[in-house]
Amino acid sequence: MPKTIFEKHSDNRRGYTLPANDVDTKLENCFPENFRRKQELKLPEVSELDVMRHFIELSHMNHFIEKGFYPLGSCTMKYNPKISEELVRNPSIANIHPLQPENTVQGALEILFELQNMLSEISGFAKASLQPVAGAQGEFTGLKIIKAYHATKGNKKNQIILPDSAHGTNPASVKMVGYEVVEIPSNERGMVDIKALREAVNEKTAGFMLTNPNTLGIFEAQIEEISKIIHDVDGLMYMDGANFNALLGIVKPGEIGFDVMHYNLHKTFATPHGGGGPGSGPIGVRKDLVKFLPVPMVNRKDGKFFWDYSHKNTSIGKIHSFYGNFAVNVRAYIYLKMLGPKGLKRVSENAVINANYLMKKLQAHYLVPFKDEYCMHEFVASGKWQKDKTGVKTLDIAKRLLDKGIHAPTIYFPLIVSEAMMIEPTETESKETLDEFIEAMVDIAAEAVNSPETLKEAPLNTPVRRVDDTKAVRELNVKFEW
Ligand SMILES: *Cc1c(COP(=O)(O)O)cnc(C)c1O
Repeated sequence: MPKTIFEKHSDNRRGYTLPANDVDTKLENCFPENFRRKQELKLPEVSELDVMRHFIELSHMNHFIEKGFYPLGSCTMKYNPKISEELVRNPSIANIHPLQPENTVQGALEILFELQNMLSEISGFAKASLQPVAGAQGEFTGLKIIKAYHATKGNKKNQIILPDSAHGTNPASVKMVGYEVVEIPSNERGMVDIKALREAVNEKTAGFMLTNPNTLGIFEAQIEEISKIIHDVDGLMYMDGANFNALLGIVKPGEIGFDVMHYNLHKTFATPHGGGGPGSGPIGVRKDLVKFLPVPMVNRKDGKFFWDYSHKNTSIGKIHSFYGNFAVNVRAYIYLKMLGPKGLKRVSENAVINANYLMKKLQAHYLVPFKDEYCMHEFVASGKWQKDKTGVKTLDIAKRLLDKGIHAPTIYFPLIVSEAMMIEPTETESKETLDEFIEAMVDIAAEAVNSPETLKEAPLNTPVRRVDDTKAVRELNVKFEW
């Protein structure tokens, strides 16, 4: 293991050269007693080169999209063009403050205004709010809106139905708004079981949450029938739009029966993500729900942009400080502007064809449970053949991929497929990279038969070998003892 930066410390070594200080910075002359440090702060003293080497070395121990393939299903780990990183660092974007007067930030407001409009346009909704800062918070916001809709109508409803393939945040968000979760099974095609849905629906049904394409990478073909069943009891249709990467320029959720949807800008629209954020999870709604959206929205009057609080009496309120994650929203704006409608459609077409290519090529080597359907932008394979024949688990396969410089797919999710491996190549990968991945997976399948013991030890060539997955959570200790 590399040393920590503290272990690289050497007294009085410096990473900078500055002229001698000629002002009084003695703490006792600058701060009252109670604000002063009681003991010297110990900081590592290292040279500039030491610092550079240290962090470059650490970064290489990690995996990132610029280093290697990252087919983490449901997460859309695509390559994000560096132009947006360059532009959001421009001082006119990076250094503005949310409390600045509106007339000094007209450009920023215009960006947000246009982004609201573009997101509404590509999803077929009346309006979109940019305030939620994660997919999960978008869900929470959308469900609050569903709740407000029913409260306004005097509807006594308290249940949200979800398929068993739902992402874990869905039931969590349902609980957070105080509704009950009703789970229904998927059918043998990996779609909503209509019969089970009919049995679950009643006058208590406040809404239905659906990911489309679902977490198996399958487009929900019966969507019109499902939305009719839900709308017949005055329930609302919520779309988890984390998988929107499959639909851009092809399907508008607002036109196929959905009433509310969240977008994951950090998945679909070019924000690097992982490690907990920052993200952005705007929501779009149909016309009669606009009055419930969080305040403020950006609006325009007489050519001037302003924060619009006009519907604050019907709004669910504010769900985040200030206006959401501005810099993430700007990245999405740049991405959308660069690609335009045609470019966006090509994103999804390429994402879908890449996933189908992998699904087809891996079928001879791994169980692919729903292979009779074309997949959308991702698909689910399973390590069940390997497990049954050789005792090698999906976890071992995933660990072995790390040895080959490839990030593992999402594993053991969705829960309804045993030994699941959820693979999402994204549109940004070339055929050559996909072929390398196929070769790696085929090699691992052979290895499972020929030397299962190696796989159970994997990874062998990474800076950190197999870790205890739960220890860090149960015994968190990130303190360095000097
Ligand atoms: C990622 C994801 C979410 C949650 O989004 P966060 O931004 O991580 O909160 C919800 N549903 C699905 C299907 C997802 O893939």
